[in-house]
Amino acid sequence: MLRDLHQKLVNKEISAKELVGQYLGKIKKTDDKIGAYLSVFEKKALAQAEEVDKKIQAGKKINFLEGIPYACKDNILIEGERSTCGSKILENYLAPYDAVVIEKLNNAGAVCLGKTNMDEFAMGSSCETSAFKKTRNPHDSERVPGGSSGGSAAAVASGQCVFSLGSDTGGSIRQPAAFCGVVGFKPTYGRVSRYGLVALASSLDQIGPLTSSVEDAAMVFAAIGGFDEKDSTSLTESMENFGPLFSPGLKDLKIGVPKEYFEQGVDKKIKEKVKAAIKKMEDLGAKVDEVSLPHTKYALACYYIILPSEACANLARYDGIRYGYSVNAPKNLLDTYLESRASGFGPEVKRRIMLGTYALSAGYYDAYYKKAQKVRTKVIEDFKKAFEKFDLLVTPTTPTVAFKLGEKIQDPLAMYMSDILTVPVNIAGLPALSLPCGFIGKLPVGLQIIGDYYNEKKLLEGAWAYEAADKN
Ligand code: GLN
Repeated sequence: MLRDLHQKLVNKEISAKELVGQYLGKIKKTDDKIGAYLSVFEKKALAQAEEVDKKIQAGKKINFLEGIPYACKDNILIEGERSTCGSKILENYLAPYDAVVIEKLNNAGAVCLGKTNMDEFAMGSSCETSAFKKTRNPHDSERVPGGSSGGSAAAVASGQCVFSLGSDTGGSIRQPAAFCGVVGFKPTYGRVSRYGLVALASSLDQIGPLTSSVEDAAMVFAAIGGFDEKDSTSLTESMENFGPLFSPGLKDLKIGVPKEYFEQGVDKKIKEKVKAAIKKMEDLGAKVDEVSLPHTKYALACYYIILPSEACANLARYDGIRYGYSVNAPKNLLDTYLESRASGFGPEVKRRIMLGTYALSAGYYDAYYKKAQKVRTKVIEDFKKAFEKFDLLVTPTTPTVAFKLGEKIQDPLAMYMSDILTVPVNIAGLPALSLPCGFIGKLPVGLQIIGDYYNEKKLLEGAWAYEAADKN
């Protein structure tokens, strides 16, 4: 997709302005129904496209992302634009600088069309905790697009952008990608700079692309990844060449199938689809074997201690003074804090602030937070052991296909369970990707491929080979 569009621009079959105009037109025509965008930068996008056209007209070489329209999740800062994070407390907050990923995409010449809807502060799996609007699944408008990067996934799936950026703390790129039938890629923790990403849980958060093909994901990843001194957890290990030149293949690749990922309430039809995909990988030359990751069953509980603990600390900065929203006529300073937070945050955010504050409080810290960190180590050890034997692990991305709007929003635990297969990857900080592997009725099913630390290349190559074979 990206490769074709780039070629069309180079061949002057289409101008960048026409290309961007087409996508803006699509947003205008379809977004009333889909609700993927929170803001659209029509003028800015067209002006940027004109600059690319000037370059092409002058016979200058353009790089792969130049003139390519994309969308950005609303928790990633773009200078001068609203960055609401789907929350009333940031409703009028204008970002003072560009996130590093935006800087990089700007340098690469990609054109941002707008910011996408998300669960409030990236807490949720359906986009329904957004304070502003509902986003609908492009495959079935009665169903959720997934979350928290639901707007970014729906925008790619409905052809409202070529690619989008999301963030993944417990599955928020992969789960909506699975629900919307697109590719969602979460790189190794620390691979893509978090500078300018509004923090949810700092030891888990990672930015990554949502795209309509694995190759596109590799190309966007190549543009946004790499060491950044402004992010203290940024990896110094060098990025490999992920460009369009690498040759994909599954031959002799050792693939592990973790049995625990086929147990925990996973829909029977999803299991069938994923097993068929694994069979296809075997047919392509991969060596497939079962593996056990015994601590998987504790991962979700561990996540829901670690995430709220980090989130409540990160959210302490929203005091009704420093960022945008402030309650009217407070009685005193304390009232400013209390009332602004009471009316600025939605119920899911409050729930997690309470959970995190409780888990970190004196007397409970050892029993909850410290214990969760020990479990985290166990989960990491499981994966490390598995990667001694295997190159990649393959699982379903989600236990079910996209559920109905309203189906789980009153039941937080049921909502949390939808991340049961994605969360362990964040706990360990590994790279993982979700790609489509068929449909149940009209709803897409996601295949999750997990790679070893820093080895995004092997992961992308394996995913690409599967995708190529699946299309033929
Ligand atoms: N749905 C998960 C949660 O609510 C994951 C969120 C995320 O990855 N940002 O925490």
